[in-house]
Formats: sequence, C-alpha cells, structure tokens
Amino acid sequence: MSGDLRPAIGLNITQFSVIHALMAGLYDGVFPADQVLATGNFGIGCGHALNGELVFVDGEIYRCTSDGSVSRVNESERVPFAEVVDFAPTMSVRLGDDGPLDRDAVEALVSSLMPSRNLFYAMRLDGDFSRMLVREPIRQHHPFRPLLEVMQTQNESEIGQTSGSLIGFWAPGIYQGISVAGFHFHFLDDERRIGGHSLNYEITSGTLTMQAMSSITLRLPHTPEFGEADFEGIDNDMAIRRVESSVAGTQ
Ligand SMILES: [Zn+2]
Repeated sequence: MSGDLRPAIGLNITQFSVIHALMAGLYDGVFPADQVLATGNFGIGCGHALNGELVFVDGEIYRCTSDGSVSRVNESERVPFAEVVDFAPTMSVRLGDDGPLDRDAVEALVSSLMPSRNLFYAMRLDGDFSRMLVREPIRQHHPFRPLLEVMQTQNESEIGQTSGSLIGFWAPGIYQGISVAGFHFHFLDDERRIGGHSLNYEITSGTLTMQAMSSITLRLPHTPEFGEADFEGIDNDMAIRRVESSVAGTQ
C-alpha cells in the first residue's frame, strides 16, 4: 500500500442530474457528452433513454448496451445522468497477494482505508477477475415507466474470467437519492468489448487506486420534465437499493 486519502481542497466530483430523476423515469439525455467530459476524465453514467451503462475512462466515454456490445459515445450525444471526476489517485493498493477477493472483501478493504465515511471517494480496480456479473438496462421508449419497473427486465450477463477495470465511487449515506449511497461500480474490459453496471465479481490480482473528494458540484437539468417531476412519492431508499444491487426478477 502506498499513499494516503487526505483530500486536497477543491477536489471536485461533478454530478449531472440526480438519481431521483432516474427513479421517476426521466431518461431523456440532457447534458451534451462533451460538456460532461469537460468536467473530468473518469466516471460513470447512463445513456439516453437508458440505452446502456456509461463508463468514462481515460477521457473516453464507452456505452455498454443490453445486446452485450460496447460502443463509443459521440461528443454531441446527450447524457441523462453522470458522475465525473478528474481522477488523480493518491492511494494505491495491490490486490490478490493473499488470495482472490470477492465484492464484499473489496468493499470491506476499501471501507477500512477510508479516513471518513462522510467524504466521496473515486476508485478504480484494474486487474484479472475470475468472475464478473454485469447488468445493462434495456433501451426505453416514451412514455417512460419508473426505473424500478424497467429494471425488472434488465439484461444480466455473467462474463466469467476477464481482465479490465471497475470504475466507480463511494458516496456517504446521506446522499442517497441525490447519488447512490455506498459503492457504485461500472465494469469495462481491457479490450473495450464488454461491460456494464457491476453486480458482483471476484478479483484474483490487480490494483486498487483511490482518491478522496472534498467537493461536489450538482448540475440540474433545465428541462420542463425535471421542473415538473414529483420526487416526493418515491420510496427512494428501498427503491434505489433494489435497482442498484438486485438481480432482475428476484425481488
Ligand atoms: Zn450503475
């Protein structure tokens, strides 16, 4: 292990829209991809009309869609939701020297490294995985239904053995509904051929790099749909937990 996780002043995570908006079915792209990329080279998001999970890595945006393919997001495309940082990790940890780590073990390790649960952390796991379960939503068409309903038919793929990167964040519990509380990772393989929202995995060897963020900027959609949406009627905590961590049709 090397480095530390003291956040420098002004290290900023920029979030475009809020999870509440997705829960309410606001899937139309709002923010041009080039404007999102201008705020950072690393992050996650979802595609217009829920067409795929987005992975921002090394300054490119990749879209992982429910047909199991990966494509580049054009700079003029609009994105309904994203969380982005300029990733400059201050801590690096080798993984796998004492055996493979499953998702729970990785999350316990990361939690033990965090100096505070009240900050945001950006993190990346690069390495070899013995299994990787991902999901991608299925593209939606108007009229949009709420996310909890839509995710009953998400596409899930067990990729199996793969090499690639988990890209994601940890957000404090009080941000549930604005962001996703706790861990949220998207996966992209090294060949940029497959990926998605990571539901489960096991890493056999690799590197964890992390950075603490001391600032969050929230960019809200300037759309009539956002202005008129009612976010009060959603049981957000339960709904978000189900959407972000469950396997389709099991709950
Ligand atoms: Zn996700």
